[in-house]
Amino acid sequence: MKKETQLISAGRSKKYTQGVVNPVLQRASTVVFDNVAQFKEAAKNRGNGALFYGRRGTTTHFALQEAIAELEGGAGCALYPSGAAAIANSLLSFVKSGDHILMMDTAYEPTRDFCNKILSGMGVTTTYYDPMIGGGIEALIQDNTRVIFMESPGSITMEVQDVPAIVNVAKEHGIITMLDNTYGNGLNFRPLDFGVDISIQAATKYIVGHSDVMMGVSVATEKYWPTLRENSYLLGQCCSADDAYMALRGLRTMAVRLAQHEQSALKIASWLSEHHLVDHVRHPAFASCPGHEFFKRDFNGSNGLFSIVMKQGNQAALDGLVEALHHFKMGFSWGGFESLITTSLTMKPLRSATGWQHGPVVRLHIGLEDVDDLIDDLTQGLEVYASHL
Ligand SMILES: *Cc1c(COP(=O)(O)O)cnc(C)c1O
Repeated sequence: MKKETQLISAGRSKKYTQGVVNPVLQRASTVVFDNVAQFKEAAKNRGNGALFYGRRGTTTHFALQEAIAELEGGAGCALYPSGAAAIANSLLSFVKSGDHILMMDTAYEPTRDFCNKILSGMGVTTTYYDPMIGGGIEALIQDNTRVIFMESPGSITMEVQDVPAIVNVAKEHGIITMLDNTYGNGLNFRPLDFGVDISIQAATKYIVGHSDVMMGVSVATEKYWPTLRENSYLLGQCCSADDAYMALRGLRTMAVRLAQHEQSALKIASWLSEHHLVDHVRHPAFASCPGHEFFKRDFNGSNGLFSIVMKQGNQAALDGLVEALHHFKMGFSWGGFESLITTSLTMKPLRSATGWQHGPVVRLHIGLEDVDDLIDDLTQGLEVYASHL
């Protein structure tokens, strides 16, 4: 079955839909049992698709969990109230005091902060590594290294990692691998197919797709799913049935949305790569992006997210650009139907292992607006940018 077809059918068995097209929206805290035998049966199968207690999920949650596990090719999927919660709780489920984590230097900022501000206080140490390190990561492994965490492409600067090379080393040393797959989303990249143990996504982005729900998902292999499921449960992680329903609704159109985001972003990135103010584009499908060769080898496609590195700039130019734009709104997150822009004068404060030797970075999320309208908008915005140099 092709992935586009799978997205339409996943999680839609009759036990979830009761005969209509979409899974039933089942809100619950308490589940009531008819008799003791039924209660015991549910207790035995809790966490495995039996209704037991609201925090363990309802039919609506089970449908989403099954669909995402299928999309990512894993044994099961845990749901969280945000992508950040998915990352924090996936890590917490597998590390204890005295353990060590290898974290790529281009991590999503709250992931880095979680290691530095929370895990450090619990006796878990973190070493940051160059995302382009590949098999060289072996030199950073300590006796107590428990997890190698990847995010590919990296946040804002978009370095694509040599995932198989890192996984090989991890397997030799019995280290768990996790990957923030928010960019790859299961359609364009499936980490578990490359030997990664746990694939995490901010479902907030392309799965939900409409900028109206916060949610995180974490998919594990057969080996790690029972621990991830149980520990996330013990950490109190769950999300509302309404949000699970919204995520399922978003999932159905993800492939067509992504195809349009990808096509428009490629056109705009190509145009920007020739722009006289732009040093280079950080779009995984372009040779100027670090790790482009791994993107070509491992990914099925790209999406609406990429960055441009400016030749020169200053804060006034960046602010002038943002304020001049009509269709690109300034705001965090991405993966919704709308275009967004964020700017960074330098990446230095967010990079401890690799530094930053280039100019300012402008990150764009290309939405579903007409692509020529977006190019016109950027054309006039960049004229304002130039007026501040
Ligand atoms: C947005 C994002 C997250 C966090 O997701 P939230 O749902 O906003 O908490 C994690 N990783 C990456 C790569 C992201 O872009």
